[in-house]
Amino acid sequence: MNLIQHYVGGELISGSSNRKGKVFNPALGEQKSEVILANKLDLDKTVSIAKKAFELWSIKPSLQRARVMFKFKELIEKNSKELTELIVSEHGKVYEDAKGSLTRGLEVVEFACGIPQILKGEFSENVGTDVDSWSMRQPLGVVAGITPFNFPAMVPMWMFPIAIACGNTFILKPSEKDPSCSIKLAQLLKQAGLPDGVFNVVNGDKESVDAILENKDIKAVSFVGSTPIAKYIYENAAKNEKRVQALGGAKNHLVVMPDCDIDGAVNGLMGAAYGSAGERCMAQSVAVAVGGIGDELVSRLSKKVEALNVGPGMDKNSEMGPLVTKEHLEKVKGYVDLGVKEGANLIVDGRNIKLQGYENGFFIGGCLFDNVKKDMRIYKEEIFGPVLSVIRVKTFEEATKLINEHEYGNGVSIYTRDGDAGRTFSSKIQVGMVGINVPIPVPMAFHSFGGWKRSLFGDSAMHGIEGVRFYTKLKTITSRWPSGIRSNPEFVMPTMK
Ligand code: NAD
Repeated sequence: MNLIQHYVGGELISGSSNRKGKVFNPALGEQKSEVILANKLDLDKTVSIAKKAFELWSIKPSLQRARVMFKFKELIEKNSKELTELIVSEHGKVYEDAKGSLTRGLEVVEFACGIPQILKGEFSENVGTDVDSWSMRQPLGVVAGITPFNFPAMVPMWMFPIAIACGNTFILKPSEKDPSCSIKLAQLLKQAGLPDGVFNVVNGDKESVDAILENKDIKAVSFVGSTPIAKYIYENAAKNEKRVQALGGAKNHLVVMPDCDIDGAVNGLMGAAYGSAGERCMAQSVAVAVGGIGDELVSRLSKKVEALNVGPGMDKNSEMGPLVTKEHLEKVKGYVDLGVKEGANLIVDGRNIKLQGYENGFFIGGCLFDNVKKDMRIYKEEIFGPVLSVIRVKTFEEATKLINEHEYGNGVSIYTRDGDAGRTFSSKIQVGMVGINVPIPVPMAFHSFGGWKRSLFGDSAMHGIEGVRFYTKLKTITSRWPSGIRSNPEFVMPTMK
């Protein structure tokens, strides 16, 4: 059995824990590896190594740190096939989708290549007579990232390229369900010239997460995962005096206005609801049909959902792969059962799909519900599978109110030809990332990614300038070089005269 270790101080190590987790190939439904689950001692030792590495890394000129990022970018491109195959083999998503997610991570590395320009401070000459003032941003120290299963490359890459380029050292605790990609990224960073101890991967579960939260030498925690755990991370990291950004779950709505390009809306919904088998925090899992467009929308969607090509991620014809684990498959099927019980109309039922040669794989076909109501659990809760709910409302105002009252506020879209509706929507909607005739409005690396309400706890979104601010602290210096005359003591607040 393949054993997945930790990557600490520039080498693979096993640590002192004897607990292990199982990593599956979801298409085959077979265990492919074991992953070591770290204990507190392993985590604390890693922090000491990262703390030592910070001493030299943090004082390296930012241009030298940027050069490591340039080299890393090149290595990711060269190794893109291997990285993509690792994602497919442990997560299950289809090859091209996995490759796309790697590219979205790579874009953050490209952003980090410009760190000398981004870290330039501000300077004011003569804030008082012969007094100058400037501000600069300095790294925090050892910082940690805790990431979910659904983007094993992209989500860690939202965090560590910027953290490292800013001069911090980093400990990544990836999802124990698909950890191999993180190890490969660590090896590529070393190949790119990153000094040992600057980037470390500690595999584990709750025990290692709690050790991260408790370790006083970790100065900031970035988390992406489900809302209950995001809240737990937010509260406990803050209690232990750390900076924290904790991104949580989602229930994203795509509003279909009666005047929209219906083909565009249907195709947008297909990709956004069923791509990556719905295991995306930006998946559109609710279609809000406004006015009389519901019948046509459901009729067009149902044909396409029935025709979805479900299969293993490495098969070029597959449009949708399996779910990540058997437990997750059971959970998603349970939600479909629940929706039927709650009285929604199950228009397409993907629960009983069987694939020849992949009988044990964690597959479910696309599911489509119509006439979903706002008090149903299938509407209120995140399902995180290929299940699209259509909810019908009479007006634009009703659609907006529905979305604003939902506990989550990650992403949202509207399909319309009416500029006024689009503009009002983007202004009034209580959601962090908004698409207008764009199905999955994921911001580019040089903007920042983050939801509102219970989709994000903390003050900063990820990557872009928000990422740079999160991973640095501000210092402002006021200086005077008096020539000759020394002033007398002053006991009043200095002000400009
Ligand atoms: P999860 O919350 O179960 O796990 C996320 C991380 O937390 C993992 O590293 C895991 O080991 C750790 N963890 C799990 N249980 C823990 C516990 N009790 N105590 C401490 N740590 C714990 O999430 P997941 O199932 O891996 O990922 C799916 C979720 O992530 C979905 O809710 C999805 O919406 C969300 N997500 C959000 C975003 C976003 O940007 N908002 C992006 C991707 C995924």
